[in-house]
Amino acid sequence: MSQLITVTILNVNIHAVTNEQTAQLIEQFIATGEPHQIVTVNPEFVVEAQSDEAFRQIINQADLALPDGIGILKAAQFLGQPPVSERVAGSDLVVRLAELSHQHGYRIYFLGAWEGVAEQSIAVLKQRYPKLRVAGCYAGSPRLEDNEAIVERILPTQPDILLVAYGAPKQDKWIARNRARLQIPVSIGVGGSFDFIAGTVQRAPVWVQRLNLEWLHRLIKQPWRWRRIWNAVPRFSWLILRSKFGND
Ligand code: UDP
Repeated sequence: MSQLITVTILNVNIHAVTNEQTAQLIEQFIATGEPHQIVTVNPEFVVEAQSDEAFRQIINQADLALPDGIGILKAAQFLGQPPVSERVAGSDLVVRLAELSHQHGYRIYFLGAWEGVAEQSIAVLKQRYPKLRVAGCYAGSPRLEDNEAIVERILPTQPDILLVAYGAPKQDKWIARNRARLQIPVSIGVGGSFDFIAGTVQRAPVWVQRLNLEWLHRLIKQPWRWRRIWNAVPRFSWLILRSKFGND
């Protein structure tokens, strides 16, 4: 997809696409039948990629690296990169894919999240998109010793889209490790999306999202994530400032 506009933030490449373009690209990827990997890059990913070279390479080699976070849009602007017009959030994308499945019959496999959460998110999605086609659903785990059994389980189901909810970077490494064998047209690391859709974790109200304060809402609701939020907000901002004004 060489025509995509790329912004580079701290040596991490992200595509300046909209939600609508993302849906169109996914349809194109499915039409080719070749395996494609999609990553949803938020500021935490960028911070993590500074010390995890394998993760940075996975992001930079992804067929599509989505701008999943207001921090990405702001940082691109601040660093004088091409404009990124909107946020493409993983959980919104999962809902959109359910709609595409309902319309076009794409088969989706739901991998990850704790027991029962993917099933619950499928039930919620089916209320809205009754013709959603589910290729399979399994919690499994991102541990290496479970890898083979999970691949064997997914292979015969031949999905068009594989959603992997193990959190970053585990989910993205899981996909990178298995994509050649699985030959699934579209694989996406979707983080906590199943939890949001199932309702086990509440997303911030829309007005909070509009104020760009979804991170603060997460900190209040899930205070044990403070370390990740620290990476996503102050640490990320500091690294961006340093890359603009620093001399390293
Ligand atoms: N998760 C899992 N197995 C693990 C670790 C995480 O299934 O060993 C799931 C967890 O249940 C959650 C998802 O990974 O549904 C993503 O978690 P998190 O909220 O940390 O991800 P983020 O959205 O911040 O990337």
